[in-house]
Amino acid sequence: EGMTIVELAKRTGVSIRHLQEIIVNVGEKVDSEFDPLSIDIAELVSMEVGVNVRRQHSDEGAVLQPRPAVVTVMGHVDHGKTSLLDALRQTSVAAKEAGGITQHLGAFVVEMPSGASITFLDTPGHAAFSAMRARGAAVTDIVVLVVAADDGVMPQTLEAMAHAQVANVPIVVAINKCDKLSADPERVRIQLGTEGLLLEDLGGDVQVVQVSAKTKLGLDKLEEALLLQAEIMDLKARIDGPSQAYVVEARLDRGRGPLATAIVKSGTLVCGQYIVVGSEWGRIRSIRDMLGRATSSGKPAMPVEIEGLKGLPMAGDDVVVVDSEERARMLSNGRKKKLEKDRLLKASEERIEIEDTSEETPSTSRVELPMVVKADVQGTVQAVTDALRSLNSAQVFVNVLHVGVGPISQSDVDLAQACGASIVGFNVRSPPSGITLAANQASIKIFMHKVIYHLLEEIGNFIVEKAPGVN
Ligand code: GDP
Repeated sequence: EGMTIVELAKRTGVSIRHLQEIIVNVGEKVDSEFDPLSIDIAELVSMEVGVNVRRQHSDEGAVLQPRPAVVTVMGHVDHGKTSLLDALRQTSVAAKEAGGITQHLGAFVVEMPSGASITFLDTPGHAAFSAMRARGAAVTDIVVLVVAADDGVMPQTLEAMAHAQVANVPIVVAINKCDKLSADPERVRIQLGTEGLLLEDLGGDVQVVQVSAKTKLGLDKLEEALLLQAEIMDLKARIDGPSQAYVVEARLDRGRGPLATAIVKSGTLVCGQYIVVGSEWGRIRSIRDMLGRATSSGKPAMPVEIEGLKGLPMAGDDVVVVDSEERARMLSNGRKKKLEKDRLLKASEERIEIEDTSEETPSTSRVELPMVVKADVQGTVQAVTDALRSLNSAQVFVNVLHVGVGPISQSDVDLAQACGASIVGFNVRSPPSGITLAANQASIKIFMHKVIYHLLEEIGNFIVEKAPGVN
């Protein structure tokens, strides 16, 4: 809020006259170039001239109040993520009142007898976590890392750790299946310690709780640990003023139309407000809590189901409140156009990048490592790309030229050959021998891994090999 046309011209490098024309074109009247523009207009105009903007609601001067933590459950497949979420959902006072009715709507709240509460995201796993993060939605405050006591640390346990660490989100460990005879929680502790997690029993600050989703043993301890972690983090949010929220799940209901489950980040969402959600818009017709009860407003960290959107948004989309239907339509249109433009631009950029690198730019002191990344699912593609880019420094530039889902193909090898790139295959099948052979003949290095941590280690060694003196 508050940017003037003059400031916008400075930021975007576009003339004041041109900015004024754009404003008139979207049907707004132009005040003096020194009057502050509304945030919606500023966003629209920025999009129009091809500048990326992010809404930053200033909390300066606002009254901040403590808010509950938002928690995501991650861990290896079959270690009990879903069972644990189900069991936690049952502990909710509200669930008991509602006769144990439990719905999967993307999130639920556990209310403690003390009045404190914890919000759990109901989609376990890394894919959801990194898809949200890729879209800029930092919703999760704490990760519960589930490790089965009878199975121990497995590849996806390490991957979950890497995700949480890259996102800078603290971990609380839940050693699950402690009811089993074959359970060996001590071994899990040692394994986690070896992997670099600083557990509290060993003087670190990562809490560890032993639980059983089956017998419900230790669930209260886990909840206490989460409340303690939240307290340490001193989570606060602005209660009053325009709301900002993130979509965690959206679905189409036959009778009620598009429904979005959103978690409020700040402010209060109110029935009747016009909202823009990602590139969709609507007017809030009703707000329900996670037990399906109608409420008039949604407060920070509270998951709510919003009815009244014209189209289906995506997980990770932001929800912003605007003044009028006109604004909502305008912004939604603008964002749709921007999405399309970005898509086209990205396609052409990829082509340009590839052409550039094939020209062997006379080397500066920075060593470039072109990479093609293939992985099993979109979420992993993102995590691997993020992780590779985290290796960038003044001496090293990991240039991810192309990413994709699925096994390494002949066209990946062709691309890598054309650009002198290496190929990373993460959690994908080994390529057919013909492709491996072609890669060998072209001296293309292929890195096959299932654990980010190990991949980074090998790439690290590769960098040292290519660029001695870098560490
Ligand atoms: P997810 O893949 O991590 O979501 O794992 P699930 O929640 O689907 O659980 C995998 C299997 O482990 C299922 O057969 C569960 O019944 C079982 N399981 C989960 N938690 C426990 C537990 O605490 N004790 C025992 N004995 N079995 C469990």
